[in-house]
Amino acid sequence: MSNKPNANRRKFLRQASAAVAAIPVVSLVGMPAAHAADQAEDGHAHNYVNNAADSDHSDYSEGEKCKNCAFWGGGDDQWGQCFHADFQGVQVNAEGWCDEYVGA
Ligand code: SF4
Repeated sequence: MSNKPNANRRKFLRQASAAVAAIPVVSLVGMPAAHAADQAEDGHAHNYVNNAADSDHSDYSEGEKCKNCAFWGGGDDQWGQCFHADFQGVQVNAEGWCDEYVGA
């Protein structure tokens, strides 16, 4: 039996805790509610790319995309929120990918 699901779950819980801890900091910065978050660019963090198919990272597997990642917070067909601490204040592409990907 593979240990990968447990490792992924631990990674997700660790990163989700960091994301929750970052919420008050974001609130102190005072982002206006109506402010549309900037869109992440390739290389934003963790080898992020807006098109998963462009990734040549060794951890990438075909079919992995932001919209099916455990950190995906929802959005529209193209852009949405990522709950990972290093993607606060930006929207990520539904078709994007980074090396913090956790299968949902
Ligand atoms: S792959 Fe997951 S953690 Fe990485 S930017 Fe996309 S939604 Fe966020």
